[in-house]
Amino acid sequence: MTLAQLVKPSVLKQPVYEPGKPIEDVARELGLDPASIIKLASNENPFGPSPLAITAATRALSQAELYPDGGCFALRAKLAAAYSIAPDQLVIGNGSNELLELLGHVLLGPGDDVVMGTPAFVVYKLVTLLFGARPIEVPLVNHRHDLDALLKAITPATKLVFLPSPNNPTGTANTQEEIVAFVRALPPHVVFAYDEAYSEFLDNPPDLRPLIAEGRKVICLRTFSKIYGLASLRVGYGYTTPEFAALLNRVRQPFNVNAIGQAAAIAALDDKTFTADVARKNREGLAQLETGFKSLNLEYVPSVANFILVKVGDGARVFDALQRRGVIVRPMKPYGMPEWLRLTVGTHTQNVRLLAELATATR
Ligand SMILES: *Cc1c(COP(=O)(O)O)cnc(C)c1O
Repeated sequence: MTLAQLVKPSVLKQPVYEPGKPIEDVARELGLDPASIIKLASNENPFGPSPLAITAATRALSQAELYPDGGCFALRAKLAAAYSIAPDQLVIGNGSNELLELLGHVLLGPGDDVVMGTPAFVVYKLVTLLFGARPIEVPLVNHRHDLDALLKAITPATKLVFLPSPNNPTGTANTQEEIVAFVRALPPHVVFAYDEAYSEFLDNPPDLRPLIAEGRKVICLRTFSKIYGLASLRVGYGYTTPEFAALLNRVRQPFNVNAIGQAAAIAALDDKTFTADVARKNREGLAQLETGFKSLNLEYVPSVANFILVKVGDGARVFDALQRRGVIVRPMKPYGMPEWLRLTVGTHTQNVRLLAELATATR
């Protein structure tokens, strides 16, 4: 009996997530000084976390011998007040990636369908396959989710529809009007998972709380990994009906979110100046990159997020050339766009370097 014979067939078939390369890996592999490398591959915040979050996290570290509050009482209270919702509408996850998996635990099994756009955040497909369900992938139109096509793709077996807006990797968004009309048109056997990982970068993010208050099967997912700059601490959250939140809370691990992350997240919510500042600098960075792409004659997809797609021809070659020069970006071949790279918007200085290296690498 081999191990492979013991393992569930779905595990053997499960595709592997390819993360952005860590700086240390690239430094080791290419013999570069880690301090000379910039990582613009995972949509992390180039300005780091808020100082308030760092102080709170440091304080929490001194009590690392204690288990965290598994119910995330203080963080849920804080989020509930911020959103004018009830604490029992919230579920906190080890990053919003964990919440995507919890959706699978609660909803998905063999015979179920999940509708999603493509290219979109690849974890939707991975979670679907992990639970033996079938992904139904609907091509984006002009790099934007086609909500009519998503609706048409829904089958009697569809349990779940994912919509990220802004979408990763395209940086495009759907309007509040479009999304509300879409949700109202969904049949009652479908749950709508609205991924708002980048919505803090929008001026007027769509607000689906009224749909949740109506009792629609809607869950909104957010994260502290992007605008709050806390990706390493792994905190995300979902808000939905109390009924659905209770089901998701039932299937999570008892201590899924660590105390350092909880403390940092609570403090981060207080630093409105920091997030407003990051959003402003991000907009300036997007404009800086777009100007640079134009002067290099490179096609790009106008973005409202903290990253942007640019067409460079041979994506694998340019990715490699940039990496050798200490700039880590994300090749888009795994997303079926081999001519494109996804670049995280950096600081002004990082963007200058990125554009200069891009000029050399695409020449
Ligand atoms: C980055 C990202 C997330 C958040 O991941 P975490 O697990 O919270 O770090 C979720 N959805 C999308 C579309 C993302 O790009």
